[in-house]
Amino acid sequence: MKEGGIMKANTMKRCSVILLFILCTLFAADLVIMYCQTNRVNVRSQPNTNSEVLGKLSINDPIKPINEQGNWYKISYKDQDAWVYKTFFGETKVETATYWYNSKSGVLHNSNCRWYGNTRRGYYTNEIIGRDCKLCGGAYRSKPKTGYKYWINTKSGVRHNRGCRWYGNTKQGYYTNEKAGRSCGICGG
Ligand SMILES: [Zn+2]
Ligand SMILES: [Zn+2]
Repeated sequence: MKEGGIMKANTMKRCSVILLFILCTLFAADLVIMYCQTNRVNVRSQPNTNSEVLGKLSINDPIKPINEQGNWYKISYKDQDAWVYKTFFGETKVETATYWYNSKSGVLHNSNCRWYGNTRRGYYTNEIIGRDCKLCGGAYRSKPKTGYKYWINTKSGVRHNRGCRWYGNTKQGYYTNEKAGRSCGICGG
């Protein structure tokens, strides 16, 4: 009888250890790392868009959802409970590409631009497509220095053609085939 009691106690102990192990595994498995898929994602104090913004997450920032509610993940942010909108998170990192193409406006932004990954519509690409952004210059540095009809001086907004002494030769600017800006008084643009 006594021996049986000890055996029972041992079995129970072993069972609770196994149970604890299973629970731990389940809990750990629940904390899947997810990655922010875009820039400037609000971290909020409550799971609604009217709540206070505690901060912002950038592309490929990792989160560990500890809970979820509707369209929101609960996370720990700067040692407090916070909420982020589910749509902006995925299980894999976003491939960082050289450019962000705004598919609505057709403007190409490079990674130095505030619009990189940050327009309503668009996608990451390594391809040189569309028009160069006037703010960041898009892909103009990667483009061949000849073969474009115009050089746009982004500071003055003046357009120079290939025959002009200012073609590719102002402090700020970019090459393009588009008739952007004002025509140059010397070359006609
Ligand atoms: Zn840009
Ligand atoms: Zn000119």
